[in-house]
Amino acid sequence: MIKKTVVFGLALAFMFAMAAAGQTPAKGLKVFISVDMEGVCGVINWDETGQGGPDYGMFRTLMTQEVNAAIAGAVAAGATEILVRDAHDSARNILPELLDPRARLLREWTYGPLSMMEGIDKTYDAAIFIGYHARAGTPDAVLKHTMTTKLLDVIINGKKMPEAGINGLIAGHFGVPVVLVSGDQAIARQAKELFGDIETAVVKEAISTAAIMLHPSKARDLIRDKTTAALKRLKDFKSLKFNPPYALDVAFADEALAQKASWIPGAVRKDEHTVSFTTNDFMEMLKLFRLSKM
Ligand SMILES: [Zn+2]
Repeated sequence: MIKKTVVFGLALAFMFAMAAAGQTPAKGLKVFISVDMEGVCGVINWDETGQGGPDYGMFRTLMTQEVNAAIAGAVAAGATEILVRDAHDSARNILPELLDPRARLLREWTYGPLSMMEGIDKTYDAAIFIGYHARAGTPDAVLKHTMTTKLLDVIINGKKMPEAGINGLIAGHFGVPVVLVSGDQAIARQAKELFGDIETAVVKEAISTAAIMLHPSKARDLIRDKTTAALKRLKDFKSLKFNPPYALDVAFADEALAQKASWIPGAVRKDEHTVSFTTNDFMEMLKLFRLSKM
């Protein structure tokens, strides 16, 4: 009787020790992956990122393979449900047949306010951004822009936001933390400013409008390993949230577009380039942002 109790106690102690040491893989993680193209290893020019570019086929293959690396890394960390959101240009870039079958793929735009984050909800445990790029106006950054090349800046509650920031707030709205961002060194730096000590996979180093690339296979290894590392320390991350009221400034390069956006009810023309909106409703802010760019 005593012996049995001792053995049971030892087994229990062993299980607790394993769990405490992180030996027990997380089970049943639900992971959302938003994928852009400008930050994919190898990509350096707009020609390579759109239908009609002679090398687009090659780069969308590399894009798909980077997503597969993130899927492999997520599965290794215990992911059992993965949704991949194609979030670049046409939203029809990732090659369905080449995609790892352990994930499902969301293609095409819905024209709804969630945009690059369509498909996310509060049931997800983590968000991952693959192929992302720095915000408009960032020096030494590959194909930097914010949502469209027509915008100079998007500022929310006084903070200049890259797409990763806007999309990170959307994830945060559903209580989902961003755990990994891949792209060049500029978006990696901006991601750390926004999200704190998350994992980043730097697949290229921009020098002005050029960049030194890792070999794509090395980039994939890095993305896979960093994804696993991020999901294994999921409890270290908090979802990004700003307190209402939400003050959104949209700065347009073309003054005429600012004029047009200023006609939206509630809009305030702040200066030559900038139109401002204030609301207590996060989803309303997203809708106003969408309208302002139409
Ligand atoms: Zn893009």
